[in-house]
Amino acid sequence: MADPVLTARRAISVPADALVLLVGAAGSGKSTFARRHFPDEASVSSDRFRGLLTGNEADQRVSQAAFELLHQAIGSRLEAGLLTVVDATNLDLLSRATPLDRARRSRRPALAIVFALPAEVCLRRNRTRPRVVRPAVVRRQSASLRHIRTDLEGEGYAAIHIFGSESDIQSAVVLLTPASELSEPARPPA
Ligand code: GDP
Ligand code: MG
Repeated sequence: MADPVLTARRAISVPADALVLLVGAAGSGKSTFARRHFPDEASVSSDRFRGLLTGNEADQRVSQAAFELLHQAIGSRLEAGLLTVVDATNLDLLSRATPLDRARRSRRPALAIVFALPAEVCLRRNRTRPRVVRPAVVRRQSASLRHIRTDLEGEGYAAIHIFGSESDIQSAVVLLTPASELSEPARPPA
């Protein structure tokens, strides 16, 4: 069987019914990548639901409600066989667990795309975002990527793509493939 870890490949094949978890610190370019490569309606994020509930995507008071809606949206889309891109940091196992569980239950493949850019790049870009995250948080998020490959390997993804540089991201191409060409559905954790 092919190694499921495909590091910085130019072409990223994405089955049309897949769960795609974007993984990376604030400022690593996840939302930009999602806008560039995926249809707008496929992309879901807790920020969007915060905005929907309060008019303010940064309003942390509705975090739990926003995550409940996010998980519902992920579950419904996957159940219907629709591409679902989770645009969130997805840096800890807990944040990945529910989306992965939904993919498993719907028998949809799960992919991880990791934005492992140097902390300095994320910090610089973070300053240009509409919503600036505290630098200490960005540093902590970047540091948590150190063992990301090992962390993800046991979680049952059909493929793991890791971008280590800005040029990796620039040269990436997403190829949407038919859902009927299902690769393996998400497996239970090892
Ligand atoms: P996220 O926090 O991971 O969602 O990152 P964003 O996609 O919001 O990007 C953070 C900032 O970096 C934004 O101001 C983007 O315009 C900028 N940015 C994102 N990707 C690139 C890139 O490939 N090159 C450059 N120069 N800037 C980028
Ligand atoms: Mg974003």
